[in-house]
Amino acid sequence: MKNILLTRKLVVLISFGFICLWNSNSIAQEVEVIPIEHASTLLLHGNTTIYIDPVGEAEWYANYPTPNLVLITDIHWDHFNPKTLGALIKEGTSIIAPQAVADKMTPALLAKTSILANGAVMNINGISIEAIPMYNLREEALDFHTKGRGNGYVITVDQKRIYFSGDTEDIEEMRSLKNIDMAFVCMNLPYTMTEASAADAVIAFSPKKVYPYHYRGKPNVSDVASFKNLIEKSNAKIEVIQLDWYPRDQF
Ligand SMILES: [Zn+2]
Repeated sequence: MKNILLTRKLVVLISFGFICLWNSNSIAQEVEVIPIEHASTLLLHGNTTIYIDPVGEAEWYANYPTPNLVLITDIHWDHFNPKTLGALIKEGTSIIAPQAVADKMTPALLAKTSILANGAVMNINGISIEAIPMYNLREEALDFHTKGRGNGYVITVDQKRIYFSGDTEDIEEMRSLKNIDMAFVCMNLPYTMTEASAADAVIAFSPKKVYPYHYRGKPNVSDVASFKNLIEKSNAKIEVIQLDWYPRDQF
């Protein structure tokens, strides 16, 4: 009798273990981040592949799946290259871009593109994409990124909210973001913002994880270590993840 009860308990425990394992695989699948260079990023999640601002050589992307979705933030060469984009997309790829980028597209790219303005939201195959404003605040930098032209994005995939800042300063629309799991935040002068401004904004919206990206400036590369220190001193709960965004450079 005792043996039968023990066996039953064992069967129940093993079944429970399998259910837990199954649940953890189906619900909490990780989003893998592949830094390509500067702003160009890949997100891999199950069978879904999202490219953000793919520029550079098409061969940099050769080891990765072709994209289901491509998001473009702005018109500049480090975010949008029609030739590279044309080489990377496939039959079923959807592209999301602001109007200013669409205006510079070939007809073939335009045919795959949905135009999203600041503040608008779109759903594609269960992925929600919200366009967040991105623009400069410093007087001397206002011409780099005028308000309304480019899009940052909040992508919601499998209940994870992922923010890409695009090229911006520490604007109110970033500071007031809520429930961000992963944040990709730019910092480079003279085009976007200082490490201190970026840290200040990140502390304001407190994402679970922050990835400094787009930090090659002119003439200097931003000091991402000082960004990390500022965050950790103020809120150690925010995890700063430093990936190599410039694999072909010394920094
Ligand atoms: Zn840029």
